Amino acid sequence: MIQDKRVLVVSAHAADYVWRSGGTIAKYIKGGAQVHVVVLSFGIRGESNDLWKQEGATYESVKQERLAETTRAAEILGISQIEFWDLPDYPMAPALTEEVRERMIRKMRQVQPDIILTHDRNGSDILNPDHNEVARFVFECSIQSNSNGYRLEGTKTTKQMRLFGFEPHQTELSKFVPGTLIDISEVYEQKVAAMECFKAQKHLIRYYTERAHLRGNHLRRISGNQTYQYGESFSNFFPAAGEELI
Ligand SMILES: [Zn+2]
Repeated sequence: MIQDKRVLVVSAHAADYVWRSGGTIAKYIKGGAQVHVVVLSFGIRGESNDLWKQEGATYESVKQERLAETTRAAEILGISQIEFWDLPDYPMAPALTEEVRERMIRKMRQVQPDIILTHDRNGSDILNPDHNEVARFVFECSIQSNSNGYRLEGTKTTKQMRLFGFEPHQTELSKFVPGTLIDISEVYEQKVAAMECFKAQKHLIRYYTERAHLRGNHLRRISGNQTYQYGESFSNFFPAAGEELI
């Protein structure tokens, strides 16, 4: 049941969680789930090209604009639990220190998530090494968080959770394979409104709008449910496991 779920979303940059999981996030919040979002960086160097074209743009002015945009988008999606860790990006790998790792594990143990949404681990985002680094980082943190042997004062070991990977921008080129399709029809307008908050990445609004139509088509075809209009897809870090074939 959606209402019983605790979800942790980890986004490399300021807008990634909106393009790739905004509909699912809004749907889960609407359904009563607890959703926590961690935005690791504002994507100031790597994902703010259009903002840097503005006269007099500085690192600080771009950051403030990205913060305002993503805060507004989060509000539209109904997100109340969101943290901005303000790490440097492009490249992000050097910023993923032991200290940041411990902070992430602490966060996982605080949220005790049933589900983690983050960047795709199975494929490789062909143009965005930060996304690949974050996928690996979050996966490793989840394994440590689930391990009793990883001692962290004041925290409780998590149980094995399900991990799902975002659909990257260059789907086929990144060899992304959808493992799960989620109907987002009831919250699609919210997702579009949230995407429109980001001035620096207009091309992605079109891309993920088209994706939503395509994934809606796949949802109808595979499920047989003709009411599905729009969808999001995720890769599965692990196979489905349970008492029934689903
Ligand atoms: Zn990104």
